[in-house]
Amino acid sequence: MALTACIVGLWAAGGGISDLTAWDGAQWTSLTQVTGLAASAVAVVGLVLVARPRSLERLYGLDRMFVWHRWLGEAVAVLVGTHVAVGFWDWTVALDSSAAALRELTGGTEYMALATVGAVVVGIVTISSLTSIRRQMAYETWYFVHLLAYVGLAFAFGHEIVLGTNVSDGLGLWFWILLHAAVVGLLLVSRWGKVAVAYLTPMRVTAVERCNDDTVAITLGGWRLRHLRAEPGQFFFLRPLVAGLWWQPHPYSLSAAPTAAGLRFTIKDRGDASGAATRLRIGARVAVEGPYGIQLPELVDGTPTLFVVGGVGIAPVRAMLERLDRRSRPVVLYRAHRQEDLVHLDELEALVAERGGTVRALVGPTATLAIADPFSADVLRAVVPDIAERSVVLCGPDRLLHAAGRGARAAGVPAERIHHEHGWW
Ligand SMILES: Cc1cc2nc3c(=O)[nH]c(=O)nc-3n(C[C@H](O)[C@H](O)[C@H](O)COP(=O)(O)OP(=O)(O)OC[C@H]3O[C@@H](n4cnc5c(N)ncnc54)[C@H](O)[C@@H]3O)c2cc1C
Repeated sequence: MALTACIVGLWAAGGGISDLTAWDGAQWTSLTQVTGLAASAVAVVGLVLVARPRSLERLYGLDRMFVWHRWLGEAVAVLVGTHVAVGFWDWTVALDSSAAALRELTGGTEYMALATVGAVVVGIVTISSLTSIRRQMAYETWYFVHLLAYVGLAFAFGHEIVLGTNVSDGLGLWFWILLHAAVVGLLLVSRWGKVAVAYLTPMRVTAVERCNDDTVAITLGGWRLRHLRAEPGQFFFLRPLVAGLWWQPHPYSLSAAPTAAGLRFTIKDRGDASGAATRLRIGARVAVEGPYGIQLPELVDGTPTLFVVGGVGIAPVRAMLERLDRRSRPVVLYRAHRQEDLVHLDELEALVAERGGTVRALVGPTATLAIADPFSADVLRAVVPDIAERSVVLCGPDRLLHAAGRGARAAGVPAERIHHEHGWW
């Protein structure tokens, strides 16, 4: 809000509003200015989110911050596109030639060539982040393309403070420089500082337990444990310090409440990185960044709770159950494709039984199930008659989240009592 007021203030102070409303030719310059200012301001907010400051993460959760970051990235691309198109038109009108305007934009005017490259980079990053395109790319490719956004924004900065009439001198210039310096500082400390600490103080695998042919539970220990304030339900980014994987952060949830003995993660082989994680040996070093996530036991504390879980999504639920008392009377609907995919079933049954609840497993490929939609409102009501009075926690693949969320709402559970991590990938 404050940033919006500052941006509108800067634009208005430079005569932007009067130029726009006079509509005497200067409106194109005014529009170019306001779209440029807005693009930078939105990008700054996007960078603050991706810096993952603890205060914001505790409030909203990293999953939502990533989703907002993506929306803001798309907004930046639209604003930059408009800024470039209107700016090009403005120069064309002023110079009476589109060829001359193009020359100015691509190097004729100082800092403009860099800014144009920056705009192209922002466009490429945004297109590569569209869900349909991102899903076709290897994570590594997408990650490095995405890092180019920093370069694109840095390239644009020169033309902002040299040519941007609103921020090229006086108070506006100082405001702009300090704003960007603060964001860079936040990124260095909160984002890259945490990564540096994770690398400099890696934890070690202290136990490995094979759960089935593709899933392994590993425990990480080390002196850093004393400094990590993690809760069941939270997740960490792990980077096993082995060739090819040391730079790749992949999120995994705690599958047991953290203790002095270590942090336990249950990892299913779904690709290169998770597959390599399932092959880690005792003593292997792992850079651990986190904890993140706000889906904690407190969310449902004291209320009867239904957990709908798919496959390895059991990990955070298994951990949360340790901190719930008998008032939770947990019902766990555990969906898996094969009997052996019901990992940690014994531990789960013991925890649930201690709290007066039940575990119901639903096993088999979707096409072979006797019920077409096992998470429809009717089925959920039949299995859990008091569902409308319960809190609901969902953990698993997107399809399960959508189906079970829809079913629970139709069965009378208010949306604010249905909890799940928001898919950010
Ligand atoms: C909050 C959260 C908690 C998770 N907890 C667990 C857990 O406890 N145990 C477990 O086995 N898995 C967990 N996962 C999934 C795990 O992160 C992916 O299986 C792993 O990243 C796959 O990487 P890959 O390179 O092996 O496979 P890929 O073939 O690269 O990816 C397989 C799928 O994993 C997802 N994925 C890949 N990279 C990422 C990433 N960096 N961030 C988010 N999703 C990604 C995508 O949906 C992709 O389609 C969790 C995911 C999230 C978002």
